[in-house]
Amino acid sequence: MPPSASNSGRGFLAQFASNEDTGEHFSPVPEGYQRGRTKFVVVIGTVMSGLGKGIFSSSLAKLLKDKGLSVAPVKLEGYLNIDSGTLNPYRHGEVFVLEDGLETDMDLGTYERILNQNLSRRNFMTAGQIYTEILECERRGGYLGRDVQMIPHVTGAVKMKLRQLAMTGAKGKQVDLLFVEVGGTAGDYENGFYIEALRELAFEEGDDSACFVALTYIIEPAILGEQKSKAAQLGMKRLMEAGIQPHIIACRAKNAVTDKVAQKISMFSNVPLKRVFSMHDRESIYVIPDAMRAEGLDREILSILKLHDRVDTKAEDRARAVWGSFASRLGAHRDHKVTLGISGKYAALRDAYASIEKAVEHCAIELGAEIDVRWLDSGEAETSARATAALDGVDALIVPGGFGVRGVEGKIRCTEFARTRRLPFLGICLGFQVAVIEYARNVLGWKDAHSTEFEPESGHPVISELPDQKALEGIVGGTMRLGGQDVAILPGTLAQFLHGGAKLVRERFRHRYEVDPAFIAELEKGGLVFSGRHSQHPIMQVLELPVSAHPYFIGAQFHPELTSRPLAPQPLFMGLIAAAIAQKEPGFAQTAHGKRWLRTSTTSSAATAPA
Ligand code: GLN
Repeated sequence: MPPSASNSGRGFLAQFASNEDTGEHFSPVPEGYQRGRTKFVVVIGTVMSGLGKGIFSSSLAKLLKDKGLSVAPVKLEGYLNIDSGTLNPYRHGEVFVLEDGLETDMDLGTYERILNQNLSRRNFMTAGQIYTEILECERRGGYLGRDVQMIPHVTGAVKMKLRQLAMTGAKGKQVDLLFVEVGGTAGDYENGFYIEALRELAFEEGDDSACFVALTYIIEPAILGEQKSKAAQLGMKRLMEAGIQPHIIACRAKNAVTDKVAQKISMFSNVPLKRVFSMHDRESIYVIPDAMRAEGLDREILSILKLHDRVDTKAEDRARAVWGSFASRLGAHRDHKVTLGISGKYAALRDAYASIEKAVEHCAIELGAEIDVRWLDSGEAETSARATAALDGVDALIVPGGFGVRGVEGKIRCTEFARTRRLPFLGICLGFQVAVIEYARNVLGWKDAHSTEFEPESGHPVISELPDQKALEGIVGGTMRLGGQDVAILPGTLAQFLHGGAKLVRERFRHRYEVDPAFIAELEKGGLVFSGRHSQHPIMQVLELPVSAHPYFIGAQFHPELTSRPLAPQPLFMGLIAAAIAQKEPGFAQTAHGKRWLRTSTTSSAATAPA
């Protein structure tokens, strides 16, 4: 038995120091950890990346969660960065921010949305985090004269962290199922130690504790017109060379995988045919859980892990009914048509705005709208004439978050157009700041108004970095305000109407600059309403124009897209799309959705808003 160790003291590796002789196993286990209680589903990709491992894992995790099992997903990243905060969205897609402030890979967003569950830093591991902790422990003399090695020390740390995550279930219970997604593909240098750690973990946890799922790809070259399995076979071989015998093989493919190919895969990988699944392209990611169930993937997992007796069939029926009613709206006729402009710097690469796209999709399904998203390169809209041309035919505008000066003038022009032409507008983070700058310049007449991020010498730095203000919240140095924060909502405002009368909402932030309190009074006198604030400090978090002045003009210093879920679309997005529909279809205001999401001058107080 590997030595058990306490989880207190200086970081999770501190206990290594207290182990007199760790032997060759060196596999610390957190105190109180019950082996066999938590089962592990490990998803490893082969052949190539970009197979939708996150969507696959989260859909599978959802299916099992719906059965009443508690689940925790974790993504293991091979890169040396400590988090995703410094990654370029052009290369890696958007940076997702968790409630606790960790900046992660966009896959964590997929998990949160599909599982309808908030995650924390324990659900995201990078090689950089592991190495840093190990090297710090080494410098403290924590390894008692031993040479520190990939095996057993690095792998031991991975196992320890996975088991610690397993212990974070509700009411101190261990979770039923841990879903481990290994970044990259089998055979990569970067993730080799993760795969080895998982092999060891499965061995240590014992029979029926781990289920390895290989996600592979079946190519279908147009020139041949048939599916070929060789690449998949070679990928599987790589995995088996690492000592992992998959239990299940999921084949991504354009079309349904043929029997012939499934038989070959089965035969070359020792996986029974009934455990080789076709995971071909579907019209929507939301039908994947049902497709998996139809094929019996969930049943196989339950059998492999001997989990049948933990299933709550009543809970499953309820969850299926909820998801079923959501999914049934997918194919329904979309009565309303909306063209939504999104003006962003990374318009060329949509992954950079993945959560915004999802939030828009959630609204489209909820409202029965067909939303045509038009990506506008704000770098191309730097004059009023060009902004006007770019926004021609657009029914609503989102100015999303961003860093750096490129495209900012274009965003200001687009915002001016939206404000003066009564185009429904949602500004997000930088988009919120841009709305303040635009208002200061064009309504208050401060032509030099700017953010100190872009113009440190501005005479009217309406947006600036305020270290003293951040210090009040305990944020030190030049770091960003990150993660979940309460937003106090001003009574009687559009913001409160959209939130069904709520006085306090919780949203996620990722910004360094903010509205300078020195200008707040004058901006308000000029007609801008700050309808969401920090509950104690003068930090402006939502702005709006009164409905008498504009049908829908709202901005958020936070990122509303990060909290939108398929089953709970985010209110600021819902209001935007509803306002866009209402401008085209006057009758919309009388519909149930219209009444819920459209604030007109007659729906004057939030108290009259239907829940
Ligand atoms: N660059 C701005 C800031 O740091 C906005 C950040 C964002 O849009 N995420 O405050």
